[in-house]
Amino acid sequence: MTTDVAVVGGGVIGLAIAWRCARRGLRVRVYDPTPGQGASRASAGMLAPVSEAYFGEVELTRLLVASAARWPAFRAELEAAAGVDIGYREEGTLIVALTPDDLAEAQRLRAYQASLGLPIIALPATRLREREPLLSPRVRGGAFAAQDRQVDPRRLVTALRAALDAAGVAVSPDAVTDLSAVDAEAVVVAAGCGSAALTGLPVRPVKGQILRLRAPGGAPPGFRHVIRGYADGRSVYLVPRADGEVVVGATVEERADPGVTAGGVLDLVRAAVDLVPELAEYELAEATAGHRPGTPDNAPIVGWLEPGRVAVATGHFRHGVVLTPITADGVADLLCAGQLPAEFAAFGPSRFTREVVGSR
Ligand SMILES: Cc1cc2nc3c(=O)[nH]c(=O)nc-3n(C[C@H](O)[C@H](O)[C@H](O)COP(=O)(O)OP(=O)(O)OC[C@H]3O[C@@H](n4cnc5c(N)ncnc54)[C@H](O)[C@@H]3O)c2cc1C
Repeated sequence: MTTDVAVVGGGVIGLAIAWRCARRGLRVRVYDPTPGQGASRASAGMLAPVSEAYFGEVELTRLLVASAARWPAFRAELEAAAGVDIGYREEGTLIVALTPDDLAEAQRLRAYQASLGLPIIALPATRLREREPLLSPRVRGGAFAAQDRQVDPRRLVTALRAALDAAGVAVSPDAVTDLSAVDAEAVVVAAGCGSAALTGLPVRPVKGQILRLRAPGGAPPGFRHVIRGYADGRSVYLVPRADGEVVVGATVEERADPGVTAGGVLDLVRAAVDLVPELAEYELAEATAGHRPGTPDNAPIVGWLEPGRVAVATGHFRHGVVLTPITADGVADLLCAGQLPAEFAAFGPSRFTREVVGSR
């Protein structure tokens, strides 16, 4: 059978593209020797366009907000197709700060986010503790981003694979080394950090160490919101899951090695326990590291590399989970209608390939 689209890479981005293309009637095949084991496995799964809006990234923030708005419908469709609960939760993010310097830093970012019209409100310590009584008495103040969400990325991978199975899409356990040898009308490179070797695009690994804790006795964690904290100059996030897991992340390191270090774990645990002292009693269930596919401007690269034949969807850096729905639908539009939606205008590969040509 002829393949219309070969997707290279079976992380959340490649799997979601394959699913959305199959929904549109394309014959699709995914290539990946270890699907779901890249950045997507390490990921915390925060859908946090508001609390993650950062200085100088207005275009990216717009894309994050647009993709987050698609999540409720994407989730409903995926869970129905796959019969898998992906752990979608809507409690929002509490931003909390311990010292006067931490609070100043949190307020500076909140003022910027509010200036973009994003829904974030300042909260005093008393109001934060009303929402989450387990917060440390040292918490001085912070904010609430009510529209931030979360999913469990491992469940998301399971659901996408089940939806692909149901749609008759095969995942071949092969690594692709030569795009010209792939037997398909069009190829989509969605290989995360592996995309650089296949395309020459500037995608680099940015290491993140991240922990999974477990509440004692299989109970749910004692807090419901995602908590993003500033603790004595260290920044940390805590993501509670219904099954008792608490994800504690993450370091940001310009390194490609997979090792978990004592210093990385120490920093994360210290900041987590400073914010929510009860976490000291939780089991340390997993310490791992993943590599975010980073780009020079921290934004994804989506579009044709060779028009009609090779497209890319990579470089999602810290935001691949929140950007999954808009990327998958955008690439399906590109393959079916020849054009990406306007939201992707600033994120094409030409912003980097032009530089390469110009510098010769
Ligand atoms: C610690 C950490 C926390 C994060 N937290 C969040 C968060 O809270 N919210 C959020 O939105 N994002 C988060 N991210 C970012 C997010 O996880 C990534 O942006 C996203 O997973 C990227 O997905 P991907 O499919 O592009 O890459 P990956 O998941 O890395 O998948 C790429 C796949 O390509 C395969 N591959 C590579 N080369 C080849 C080849 N030559 N042939 C075939 N297959 C190949 C690999 O085996 C891999 O399975 C986090 C990342 C990390 C590391």
